[in-house]
Amino acid sequence: MTPFVFVSDLDHTFVNHDVEEDRQRWELQEKLDAHRQKYGTKIVYATGRSPQLYQELAVEKQLISPDALVLSVGTEIYMQGSDTPDTEWVNLLAQNWQRETVVKTAAKFPELKAQPDSEQRQFKVSFWLEEEYSEKILPEIESELRKYALNIKLIYSSGIDLDIVPANSDKGQAMHFLRQRWEFAAAQTVACGDSGNDIALFATGESRGIIVGNARPELIQWHHQNPNPNRYLAQNICAGGILEGLNHFGFL
Ligand SMILES: [Mg+2]
Repeated sequence: MTPFVFVSDLDHTFVNHDVEEDRQRWELQEKLDAHRQKYGTKIVYATGRSPQLYQELAVEKQLISPDALVLSVGTEIYMQGSDTPDTEWVNLLAQNWQRETVVKTAAKFPELKAQPDSEQRQFKVSFWLEEEYSEKILPEIESELRKYALNIKLIYSSGIDLDIVPANSDKGQAMHFLRQRWEFAAAQTVACGDSGNDIALFATGESRGIIVGNARPELIQWHHQNPNPNRYLAQNICAGGILEGLNHFGFL
């Protein structure tokens, strides 16, 4: 057995919110932890959650502690045991990012409802945008922001969440950053997800991907439009789908 980098989204991927007791997640956690202790496998959670909302979930669900945390859709990386975002990642994202300009520009669009303060981060400005408006509004916001030649990207997910972040930050680029820091090959890296903000995890060529069986239509559609033999669409949902995929690729 060889070590690998395990990267997983949390909500509706690693964590099934529809069940009280998720035995498959306990099985997955146990297997991952054993693999880490025996072979040096790395565990990473990559989530849209802020540090505050991550902590709440980690305590509630008793998540095993990760080797690194990718929070706020990839705009913050915390190495194990650290309360402060990784400075190398911060310096990369700070280039050409002007938070105030993003906030001011977005204020011109009444369809955008600001998310709570805890979700507004140094490199992430977050809104709720109803799906019915999204097709019309998203290109308008993007072209408005482009006028300032900002280094930005829009991530729309789950038919409601809109995150405006630096162009060089997403879950996939954060995964790449960690993989290189730990010196793992792409083929020894596997990412798991269920929704639109996980697409970046699957868009990185050689690394392996597991889409859980309960994935949202936006991700399934993208998967079929961008076929890749390194990506596996599981039958089972959440942790059950992850276990299925890890077996499929021979990681476990
Ligand atoms: Mg999710």
